[in-house]
Amino acid sequence: SSSEHYVGRFAPSPTGPLHFGSLVCALGSYLDAIAHGGHWLIRMEDLDPPREMPGAAERILHSLHAHGLHSHSPVVWQSKRHDLYQQALQQLRAQDQIYPCSCTREQVRTAGGHSKANCVGESGAHSLRFLCAGTREGFADIWQGAQQQAIDEDPILKRKDGLYAYQLAVVVDDIAQGVNHVVRGADLLDCTGVQRCLFRALGAEPPQFGHLPLVMNEAGQKLSKQNHAAPLDDTRASSNLVQALGFLGLRPPQDLAANTPAHILAWASAAWQRKAVDRHNRLFD
Ligand code: GLU
Repeated sequence: SSSEHYVGRFAPSPTGPLHFGSLVCALGSYLDAIAHGGHWLIRMEDLDPPREMPGAAERILHSLHAHGLHSHSPVVWQSKRHDLYQQALQQLRAQDQIYPCSCTREQVRTAGGHSKANCVGESGAHSLRFLCAGTREGFADIWQGAQQQAIDEDPILKRKDGLYAYQLAVVVDDIAQGVNHVVRGADLLDCTGVQRCLFRALGAEPPQFGHLPLVMNEAGQKLSKQNHAAPLDDTRASSNLVQALGFLGLRPPQDLAANTPAHILAWASAAWQRKAVDRHNRLFD
């Protein structure tokens, strides 16, 4: 409800340095929080050591700070929160909402998605899956509008290799941190239905979701660490910010880039308007 205090967050995975697309997401989530008198958090999603790049987490935090984006509470590291994830799994088990699964990728592919009905069950190494296939989730996204998502597969919450899955940790932490607004890139729109189900299974109201347009490269792909988007140049923080503001539909005055990041962010939080953000993905030039 609008009477509750706004809590938003930016939750990078340390798989590589920030790029212009991640700056747009960080900035959009920050400005939407500040413009609503909210609290803004940084959470490091260092949940998957094999996918991490050494030093990336520190480099991401350095970049955010160079751009004037400071967490209002100490940065939370998911690698230190396994107890919370385990407790959530225990709660879901007590509620009969998870089950062990030893299916291989091949078996899941052949079955055309995973549900309890086609599961081979438990034999040796197994993942834990969340019972939600068959659910339909309708919600209003701040930028992408009315959404209807039919969930056709029970997602993995704990992997066979023992790692906790993104879907579990992100929801457990958003609940624990009191996050009630999730502003992030549109690449995560399709995860939202499952996350909404999981919020409710864990006894919490889902937050309001807003999925920002993606920054695309010349090849029509979203800028990402995987396709080697150029890392942000922290020595050009002010011009990076002004460029990101343009992407988010703001019209910064000519000389704004000559100012400090703090000054630019103050201007932008006063100028921020949700309806100025065009929901379509756009080329980065
Ligand atoms: N850690 C996720 C990522 O970097 C984002 C999680 C989220 O914003 O919900 O893609």
